[in-house]
Amino acid sequence: MFETNNFYICFFGPTKIFFFRTFTSNPMNRRTPSPLPNHSTPGAPTHIPFGLRGHQLFSIEEVPRGLACDCRCPACGAQLVAKKGARQAHHFAHYRGSACPDALETSLHLKAKEIFERVRRVAVPAVFLHRQTSPIFDAQLLRFERVRLEQHLGSVVPDIILEAGQKKRLLVEITVSHSSGKAKIRQLKKQGLSAIEVDALAIYRQLIQDFGQFRAADFEQVLIHGLKQKRWLFNDKQQRIEYKLRKQSAERPVKHRYFKGYHGYIVPGCPLEKRRWGSGFRQGEPYANLWQDCLYCHRRFDIIYETALAGFEEVRQYPLAVVCWGHLPLPRAIGWASSV
Ligand SMILES: [Zn+2]
Repeated sequence: MFETNNFYICFFGPTKIFFFRTFTSNPMNRRTPSPLPNHSTPGAPTHIPFGLRGHQLFSIEEVPRGLACDCRCPACGAQLVAKKGARQAHHFAHYRGSACPDALETSLHLKAKEIFERVRRVAVPAVFLHRQTSPIFDAQLLRFERVRLEQHLGSVVPDIILEAGQKKRLLVEITVSHSSGKAKIRQLKKQGLSAIEVDALAIYRQLIQDFGQFRAADFEQVLIHGLKQKRWLFNDKQQRIEYKLRKQSAERPVKHRYFKGYHGYIVPGCPLEKRRWGSGFRQGEPYANLWQDCLYCHRRFDIIYETALAGFEEVRQYPLAVVCWGHLPLPRAIGWASSV
């Protein structure tokens, strides 16, 4: 959308829609209305995309305008009014204007769970090994047979548990305000549970920004098929492969070299043959330059340093060895037939 002082032009799909608005008469009116509700301002009215009628969530386009919508706030239970005006994206608001900071988050959270329970499908982002640029799993749409909501799995209570067959299991966390913390990820690791996180609030904001309106069908589409607002919290297969690679990796000693007034660190016998000696008694043998090759190498796990005690602390001195898996073959991509 292009905005100027007096009018804005909206390109929407293949057809062009022109809106002309004159704000010149009163300078106070120059503020162009934003379709995006302002959630960062405290005390600003909350825009709610879904209202609760009985136990069912209704989106704004499914209900009549005003109080006739007969919906209640999913967070506090207060009466809602359906606002379907021309200026802002259609939304529900509290009839009595009560402050309800959780209304948006709660309604998105409930709706996302309802969608997953019904659809039992989710597209997941690709999985990359440590420092790798080609994925071991491609981004794919996964289908599941069973859904469990808010149930204990050891010490973890994920929002959604998707299951297929005996072994295939994926946890889905719906985030609306806070991303999952380190403690949660640690628990997932401990129990070997693969989990993705979906940012429902980011989807909501993106939809309103892109289309100027929020439609439940678009939300469902992006929630299931979108990849941008999803990330892996933990992937069990990835961790297993990386663990194996680390076990099999080699510690290659680093040699100090002083040449023409410059200190250098080289790693003889680089399996990827980054460089070769051009002359001297090592002529033809491969090596790597620690800072120029190994530091950015995709097959390096770690650099081990000699340390010294300085002021009660171990501080790094000089590089001793490189933990490298360049001699191992690249792990094969893994099919989705196996457990996630
Ligand atoms: Zn409320």
